[in-house]
Amino acid sequence: MNNVWLLIYVLPFVGVFTWYLVARRRKETKAILAAEEAIAASMTEPPSLHPVIDPLKCIGCRSCVAACPEHKSHAVLGMIRGKSRLIAPANCIGHGACKRSCPVDAIDLVFGTERRGIDIPEVKPNFETNVPGIFIAGELGGMGLIRNAVEQGRQAMDSIIKLPGIGSGSGHDVVIVGAGPAGFSASLGAMKAGLRFVTVEQDSLGGTVSHFPRGKLVMTQPAELPIVGKMKFTETSKEKLLEFWQGVEAKTSLKINYHERVEDVSPVEDGFVVTTSKAQYPCRAVLLTIGRRGTPRKLGVPGEEMSKVVYRLIDASEYAGKKVLVVGGGDSALEAAHSIADQPGADVTVSYRSESFSRAKPANRAKVEQYAAAGRMRLAMLSTVAEIRPGSVILEKGGKQGELANDAVIVCAGGILPTGFLKNIGIAVETKFGTA
Ligand SMILES: Cc1cc2nc3c(=O)[nH]c(=O)nc-3n(C[C@H](O)[C@H](O)[C@H](O)COP(=O)(O)OP(=O)(O)OC[C@H]3O[C@@H](n4cnc5c(N)ncnc54)[C@H](O)[C@@H]3O)c2cc1C
Ligand code: SF4
Repeated sequence: MNNVWLLIYVLPFVGVFTWYLVARRRKETKAILAAEEAIAASMTEPPSLHPVIDPLKCIGCRSCVAACPEHKSHAVLGMIRGKSRLIAPANCIGHGACKRSCPVDAIDLVFGTERRGIDIPEVKPNFETNVPGIFIAGELGGMGLIRNAVEQGRQAMDSIIKLPGIGSGSGHDVVIVGAGPAGFSASLGAMKAGLRFVTVEQDSLGGTVSHFPRGKLVMTQPAELPIVGKMKFTETSKEKLLEFWQGVEAKTSLKINYHERVEDVSPVEDGFVVTTSKAQYPCRAVLLTIGRRGTPRKLGVPGEEMSKVVYRLIDASEYAGKKVLVVGGGDSALEAAHSIADQPGADVTVSYRSESFSRAKPANRAKVEQYAAAGRMRLAMLSTVAEIRPGSVILEKGGKQGELANDAVIVCAGGILPTGFLKNIGIAVETKFGTA
């Protein structure tokens, strides 16, 4: 009889419990590996808003791990020794779903860390900065995510419409800088209100979204776009979202000045003059929706203005059969190099000024070194670009110059963050070291 009891009740329980322990152990091992990988690749600093978990309060329920929308694509949070940990800080994009899901309030959302401060401009509830007439919306103000950017762009424009002097005067009512989700929404708001406005974008529509990896799963929430109404996306792809915005741009005939960069904003009587790489715009107000990614760092060499030079890889298949120089040694450079080397007939050289790719993830380093050893790409370490010519590039190494046949150059040399620009135009900025 005892054996029957054992078979019916105890054994299944032991089986389920053992299965639970094995699954838990497996997940923990995965989390430890992800944490070690992040440390090895120096990817330990979250880019913006991120969770800080109090281990004394955490009861290990795992709700935060399951709630993180990024969890479907890659690790961000993980359970180690029964407590939640931010195992891949650089992957955190500040959804904040972890905090909302925690039943014991063990999570705080903060900007920056003790080691690396994050500069957040001071912005009033109506989105105006300490410089009257200059407004900030979207991720630049500290609040990331597409929905927040769309909502804030619309709300900031509602505040600008109420400014005295809007609708009169000889210049533009407002210059909108940046056409990411915040600038796009604000531009539609300006159009709906019949303002005289110009939107200036140094790159292309969609801002950071247009830089997401191909096919990236985008998790967002419905948001109100002026003229269009509710943008009902929750889970979509980068391509579908961009296609939707492009459709709205075409339908509304919204004009955005692409490939034009704002370089300065100076105060004048009754407003500002915005100086861009192409023109000067007198205006009553300025709305900065420039995000936090900054402007790609240029090489500053002759020939860089040629159209064959780009600062990000959009589609590796464009480079099939081409001679390509990738400049840089970080993850984006190495990812660009090996994905182009995978294209039929592509001939890839990586030029990097240091002797090793110490800043990149081990997986990217290993892949590039393996491709180089197999003759699938060349690595020009300790080299710099001296000049770019129509059919070639001049590389300098150890004081000597050499010419390399070339069809395209991809510069992945990082970006210049917007803080300097903000300070130059008088906007007060606070550096946060792990505070809300
Ligand atoms: C890898 C990654 C994945 C993400 N995934 C998600 C997700 O799934 N869901 C989600 O909600 N959010 C996600 N985000 C966050 C989201 O992309 C941003 O919060 C959002 O794009 C911010 O919008 P924005 O308009 O404020 O700024 P941005 O999108 O950064 O746009 C700013 C624009 O300003 C332009 N600009 C900058 N300086 C100048 C200048 N001087 N002159 C002219 N133009 C200028 C830039 O070229 C850019 O187009 C992710 C972010 C990253 C990095
Ligand atoms: S939701 Fe809260 S209690 Fe549960 S694992 Fe995450 S931090 Fe710990």
